[in-house]
Amino acid sequence: MATSDNYEYMNENSIHEDLLCPICTDPLEDPVSANECGHTFCHKCIMDTFRDMSTCPTCRRDLTLEDFHPVTIRPFLNQLNQLLVKCKWCSQINIQRGNFKDHSTNCTKVLISCPAAHLKCDWKGQRDKIQTHISECPLVKVQPMIDELNALVKQQAEQIHFLYTILDKTSKSQKKACQEYYKANGVAYCDTCKKKFTFGEHKRRLHFCPDTDFCSDCVKKYFP
Ligand SMILES: [Zn+2]
Ligand SMILES: [Zn+2]
Ligand SMILES: [Zn+2]
Ligand SMILES: [Zn+2]
Ligand SMILES: [Zn+2]
Ligand SMILES: [Zn+2]
Repeated sequence: MATSDNYEYMNENSIHEDLLCPICTDPLEDPVSANECGHTFCHKCIMDTFRDMSTCPTCRRDLTLEDFHPVTIRPFLNQLNQLLVKCKWCSQINIQRGNFKDHSTNCTKVLISCPAAHLKCDWKGQRDKIQTHISECPLVKVQPMIDELNALVKQQAEQIHFLYTILDKTSKSQKKACQEYYKANGVAYCDTCKKKFTFGEHKRRLHFCPDTDFCSDCVKKYFP
């Protein structure tokens, strides 16, 4: 039974067997073939098969995934692209498979997600219902604000990373001098919580110079 999630083949029984994948028995999708034996399969089918075996499913020759290459023979690909399909959503018939992508971006009955799906709106519906949903969806309304906040958080994360790199670099070059400072003084004070710590407890993730000291508790708190 030749099917996909979005279309079914028309005149299924008259499709030439050279166009069928021996694994799924459907017309080939993204065909790949091995130079060694010439056997051809869907890209997805061969990926699935080679998870647990390493021989050609047709001739049992020892092969690896790297032996399979996308088929580039134009007339062959054209024949696959010209196969006629019927849209499962709107029932339109005689669509060339190669044009199905174009069809589904315009198909009014195809199932689509809410534009705020990344904000956990789990609405799915047919394209001709989306305008109604958008006018009612609270997540679509807050989406611009959340996108803005996300951009800000991302920018700040990058700034922190930048500062972190500078600190790390600076601290490495000053490490030796600072060790001597702690040895001489024996104690230091955390700049954040003002807690006193001694050289022995000086187990901080970042090595800061004496002007900016943080105890290990505070470093853990701010850089969990
Ligand atoms: Zn297949
Ligand atoms: Zn083979
Ligand atoms: Zn359709
Ligand atoms: Zn929604
Ligand atoms: Zn502290
Ligand atoms: Zn230091």
